[in-house]
Amino acid sequence: MDNCIFCKIVAKQIPAGVVYEDEDLLAFKDINPAAPVHLLVIPKQHVATLSDCTDEHAAVLGKMLALAPKLAAEHGIAVKQGPDGQRSGGYKTLINCGPDGGQEVYHLHLHVYGGPRPWRGLG
Ligand code: 5GP
Ligand code: ZN
Repeated sequence: MDNCIFCKIVAKQIPAGVVYEDEDLLAFKDINPAAPVHLLVIPKQHVATLSDCTDEHAAVLGKMLALAPKLAAEHGIAVKQGPDGQRSGGYKTLINCGPDGGQEVYHLHLHVYGGPRPWRGLG
């Protein structure tokens, strides 16, 4: 897609801190991280927003979400559970959709945020 910044990252026309790549997905570091770990997972094929997704996108949406725990493990933000059952660590996944959803880049992306709190403005 012309003039799509994330398509340009997929095409390696502009640099990004790529942390994962396969035939369908790319994951890279957010340029303006809102948490100690802030990654973006995108489909390589351009789709502007979650609202444009149909049943045909179910597989790639599933792949995007399934990648989050793998990235979390690789970046030290997985949920850990102690012998007493107490959980620590963890992360937040988020898809902003449309203007009222806070979406700024119109190429579908899943945010993965994690690391020690506090984080900037994410609840
Ligand atoms: P949105 O508000 O659309 O859900 O989030 C877009 C995200 O993309 C923001 O967190 C922003 O920092 C990130 N971003 C925007 N442009 C670039 C870029 O050129 N490179 C990278 N790595 N991240 C970007
Ligand atoms: Zn795009």
